[in-house]
Amino acid sequence: MTCLLALAGCGAPAAGSPTPAPVPPPSSSSVAPPPSSVTTPPPAPASTPATPRATVTATRPASPVSGVVVLDPGHNGGNAANPAAINRQVPAGRGRTKPCNTTGTATNAGFPEHAFTWSVALRVRDILVARGVKVVLTRPNDTGVGPCVDARAAAGNNADAAAVVSIHADGSTNASARGFHVAYSAPPLNAQQGEPSLRLARTVRDGMRAAGFPLSTYIGAQGLSPRADLAGLNLSTRPAVLVECGNMRNATEAAAFSSATGQQSYAKAIAAGILAYLA
Ligand SMILES: [Zn+2]
Repeated sequence: MTCLLALAGCGAPAAGSPTPAPVPPPSSSSVAPPPSSVTTPPPAPASTPATPRATVTATRPASPVSGVVVLDPGHNGGNAANPAAINRQVPAGRGRTKPCNTTGTATNAGFPEHAFTWSVALRVRDILVARGVKVVLTRPNDTGVGPCVDARAAAGNNADAAAVVSIHADGSTNASARGFHVAYSAPPLNAQQGEPSLRLARTVRDGMRAAGFPLSTYIGAQGLSPRADLAGLNLSTRPAVLVECGNMRNATEAAAFSSATGQQSYAKAIAAGILAYLA
């Protein structure tokens, strides 16, 4: 079966799946409180673009984009060594509870999901900041524990985020399963989980599609997956989605996840989707 991910984290890796590679001990046994870092964008240019507005191009507009985006890199490097902290039950929305966080999955070669999500999140951040977007990350590094899924959701809510994007990769033991999907809360629990979140899901899906990434062959439809069980989405009062970039157990996708070039490609696609939403 698949590791049905989650902001709430891919629960423990699926039965029979290898345990993620050992991680260095965290600097603290406590859960890091979000938001962990805020990156302030550069000031807007004083002059208007030289290109006439009427010119139609295939590229995005070059003007700065306003708004705060919260990026949530799934899991954390210290989670595996701190089961007590990670297994603590926290509110998950819809009257349920879930473990604080999970270890995430890994490629068959042992490249862990948390390292992938961290790298991609930093790359997305850099692209967005260059476009004038203020970015908040839900964790400050890839060596800590947590934060819990409810705290990750609170980071987006407290930042009054224009968009919240959680970044994950799946761990289906079906090695032929591949492709990405974007999850959103359904049925929605508030107005922001309705049309705004669905629109964000579509723009991120379209960004991934335009970059050439294949739609999931095994979850959702047309790259979209309505979910009622993801704590981070359930607890969000802002437009929020969770992108599962693909299957870490698929050889082709594992190679992309593990390389800097591949990570940059995923980041560019996700950033394009976010910018399309903000535009
Ligand atoms: Zn995950």
